[in-house]
Amino acid sequence: MKGVDTHCHLQMAPFDEDREAALDRALQVLKWLVVVGYGLDGSESALALCRPGVYATAGFHPYLASGYDDAGEARLKELAQKKGIVALGEMGLDYFNEFSPRPEQRVCFERQLALAAELQLPVIIHCREADEDTEAILKDYISDLPECIMHCFGGTASFAERCVGMGCYVSFAGNVTFPKAQTLREAALVVPLERLLAETDAPYLAPQSFRGKRCEPAHVMTTLTFLAQLKGLPPEQLIGQVVKNGEQAYRLC
Ligand SMILES: [Zn+2]
Ligand SMILES: [Zn+2]
Repeated sequence: MKGVDTHCHLQMAPFDEDREAALDRALQVLKWLVVVGYGLDGSESALALCRPGVYATAGFHPYLASGYDDAGEARLKELAQKKGIVALGEMGLDYFNEFSPRPEQRVCFERQLALAAELQLPVIIHCREADEDTEAILKDYISDLPECIMHCFGGTASFAERCVGMGCYVSFAGNVTFPKAQTLREAALVVPLERLLAETDAPYLAPQSFRGKRCEPAHVMTTLTFLAQLKGLPPEQLIGQVVKNGEQAYRLC
């Protein structure tokens, strides 16, 4: 059964040498994948990869929040309405890597949430060591958003439950397979099957069996199989449900 990679960065430099080959390998095992934007240039290069089975998103990563201005927002809005773009993001807060000051991250996040509500696009949230602020800000916008995905979930089971309570999908990456990632596994266990997603966040976070190597979208199958085992389900059942969830989250069907 084919899986899906709900979040990867195939447009990034680590794929410059073999991007098409990596994409071919991915589409042999995946029904579809989403190349996620992380700035204007990174969103444009994501869009350029669109084809049957390959979707893209446009957004300002919190690392780049300081560069978000009216002109950038206008370009983002234009990009977001192109064919092949299925969501706005990734956006959010990263208090671990504070590459932009926190107040600027919050402004950049809120303005994109407002834009997503205006355009009625799903959002992809990046949240690292910023659970409280992310939750407080999301609460103000979530009822106006079509769908919300917490990507590369890195919080506790309690935060995962609160995200599900707000109506979010919760997506796990290869780091859920790391031996020390007990907290992440506890979080994955409390997310109901119909709210669960999986991703690679490639080129980052290769699952344990590929650890230390560049991650690529096809590796999501390892994470999907792992999640099935964790939840005590046949892999086909979990994969089938995650594919369906992803299609609802990105409104592909
Ligand atoms: Zn991210
Ligand atoms: Zn990402």
